[in-house]
Order: sequence, then structure tokens, then C-alpha cells
Amino acid sequence: MLDMNRGGYLITNERMETNIPGVYAVGDVRDKFLKQVATAVGDGAVAGYGAEKHLSECEIFEQQIMNEGKPSLVYIYNAVDADSRELLSVFKEFEQSHSDIRVSCIDIYKSDGLAKRLGVSNGPCAVWIKDCKIQEKIDHEITKEQIESICK
Ligand SMILES: Cc1cc2nc3c(=O)[nH]c(=O)nc-3n(C[C@H](O)[C@H](O)[C@H](O)COP(=O)(O)OP(=O)(O)OC[C@H]3O[C@@H](n4cnc5c(N)ncnc54)[C@H](O)[C@@H]3O)c2cc1C
Repeated sequence: MLDMNRGGYLITNERMETNIPGVYAVGDVRDKFLKQVATAVGDGAVAGYGAEKHLSECEIFEQQIMNEGKPSLVYIYNAVDADSRELLSVFKEFEQSHSDIRVSCIDIYKSDGLAKRLGVSNGPCAVWIKDCKIQEKIDHEITKEQIESICK
């Protein structure tokens, strides 16, 4: 089930993620340059942090974004990009005037896992989700009018 090299060592990326989401490999079982206590401990720290983040992203995705109650509008932005930060106020205003829609703002830099699940690789992007399905995305020139027009 897990990708291995020819020697049977598990293949991971630098976040210790294997080919299966939520499954991590650390220490001597990994395919890596130096198998020592110091590197095993570092692997463990990275994987522990990643696993915690993965679990919280799963919770947000299932309970907040893809829930069966209210439809969702997700704004994926990049906190280091001034233009995409400015649009946050547009989404906050939209949230205040649409109590029937759940609005979530996600910083892609902090939560790229959530963006990936929504098929978004770059911010800014607005994703409209209804009936647990992605209905529409706007990935350029996001305006108040455009947001209003997709959220139907
Ligand atoms: C002789 C020797 C000397 C070394 N000297 C040094 C050194 O001086 N400095 C250094 O930094 N590194 C050294 N290392 C390497 C270091 O020991 C390893 O890199 C480190 O222990 C890896 O940690 P780990 O947690 O990945 O694996 P391990 O420490 O091997 O831990 C794996 C654990 O999993 C258990 N296990 C295995 N299969 C199962 C199973 N099916 N179910 C439940 N449990 C299971 C094992 O019993 C073991 O307790 C040495 C290694 C050896 C063999």
C-alpha cells in the first residue's frame, strides 16, 4: 500500500508524508541519507506537527466546509499578498449580510492541505460549495458582484 524503494524503505516527502494522506513514516524505516537518532527525532517532530495539522484540516473540511447544512463560500488567500488580504473585508461583509451561507477564509500559506482538497493551488480563489459539491470557482478579479452571482 505504501510506496517503497527497491530496498523496502518507505518513500516520503520532506513533511514525512507517504503516498497515502494521513500516513507518515519516520526514522529508520524511511528512505533517507542518514539513519541516526538525531534524524529520527527530527522526522518525528515534523510528522507530529504535520499529523496534527492534517487532523484539524480534516475536521474543518468535513464539519465546516463540506457539511450538509448550509452552503459554503470559501475564500483561499495568501496572507503575504497584499491584494488578496484586501479582499478579506469583502468576504467578511458578505458573511454579515448572508447568514444562510457559511463563509470560511483560509490562508493558503498556513493550510495548503485544505486548498489542495478544493483543487486550488494558488490564492486568491473563491470556491462556492453547495450540496457538498464544488459548484463554482473564481480565481481572478474577485469582486463583490461576482461573489453574489456565483452564490445561488
Ligand atoms: C548497532 C547500532 C549502533 C548505532 N549507533 C548509533 C549512534 O551512535 N548514534 C546514532 O545517532 N544512531 C545510531 N544508530 C542508529 C539509531 O539506532 C537509529 O537510527 C534509531 O534508533 C532509529 O530510530 P527509529 O525509532 O526509527 O527505530 P528503532 O529505534 O529501531 O525503533 C523501532 C522500534 O519498533 C519496534 N518494532 C519493530 N517492529 C514492530 C512491530 N511489528 N510492532 C511493534 N513494534 C515494532 C522495535 O522493537 C523498536 O523498538 C545505531 C544503530 C545500530 C543498529
